[in-house]
Amino acid sequence: MPERTPYIAANWKMHLTRAPAVQLARDVVAQLADVTGAEVVLCPPATALDAVGRVLAGTRVLLGAQTMHWEDHGAYTGEISAPMLVDLGCRAVILGHSERRSYFGERDEEVGRKTRSAVVHDLLPIVCVGESLAEREAGSTLRVVQVQTERALEGVSRELAPGIVVAYEPLWAIGTGKVATTEQAQEVHAFIRGLLSNLHGETVAQRMRILYGGSMKPANAPDLLGQKDIDGGLIGGASLESRSRVTNTAPPFEPRDVSTSALDRALMSYPASAAYAWGRRKRPTRCPGTPPAARQRPAAGGSRAT
Ligand code: PEP
Repeated sequence: MPERTPYIAANWKMHLTRAPAVQLARDVVAQLADVTGAEVVLCPPATALDAVGRVLAGTRVLLGAQTMHWEDHGAYTGEISAPMLVDLGCRAVILGHSERRSYFGERDEEVGRKTRSAVVHDLLPIVCVGESLAEREAGSTLRVVQVQTERALEGVSRELAPGIVVAYEPLWAIGTGKVATTEQAQEVHAFIRGLLSNLHGETVAQRMRILYGGSMKPANAPDLLGQKDIDGGLIGGASLESRSRVTNTAPPFEPRDVSTSALDRALMSYPASAAYAWGRRKRPTRCPGTPPAARQRPAAGGSRAT
């Protein structure tokens, strides 16, 4: 079974003007300087993409956007296209977030168009799917997720499919503090993996990453990330916190089998560090004691996320 590199996406939503966004990006880069077990993408608001991108250039942390239009250019006032995001150094883009669907009327068909445009332009789409509370209570979770996933991936070739990340985000867990149980989340993730297998075959499905999103934070991340089909997280509220903002507190969690050196403790203060801990626990990527100079650092903008 192929290894899937854990993926952590921070969705800063409509928060932070440029100066605090740059400060937070600097904090995250400093905290994750030695992280090699996971890919981390920061998605600031569009107004801060350029400034944050300059901080991330030459680091392992990637730049991402929160939405885009499916056309490359045209008379679409207020919109931003995939080539424009690439021009700013973006490597990923969140698509079909439930807030875009519910507040701005984004439909599955549009999410599909955007997904196709993103992969064509070598941007990694983070395609959000998930059911409302009413749909869960009506027993239609899997049907809703199936329709959203299939429509979003429609027309994407088998070759390009591994360049897509699916994020399962139950609407009732986003920004509410309610989190899906590990069983609820794993059930839907396994179902999505099955859908991907039906669409593109088992080999491709095993390569594709499926993230969980919905009130994920350091306290619950290790259990969620420990599930077989959960390959990372899409994190909203908690991603606005970094160690420098968390004062006078002990590290929020201490994974049982991860040592708590000063570095580990610092990393645990940012949610992305959950992936670090998980990466170390499940698939160590460097030998303890490897001198920093021997570690590889990709060129500007970080490595491609697939
Ligand atoms: C999100 O915005 O995608 C999200 C999961 O938010 P939160 O972590 O705040 O629930």
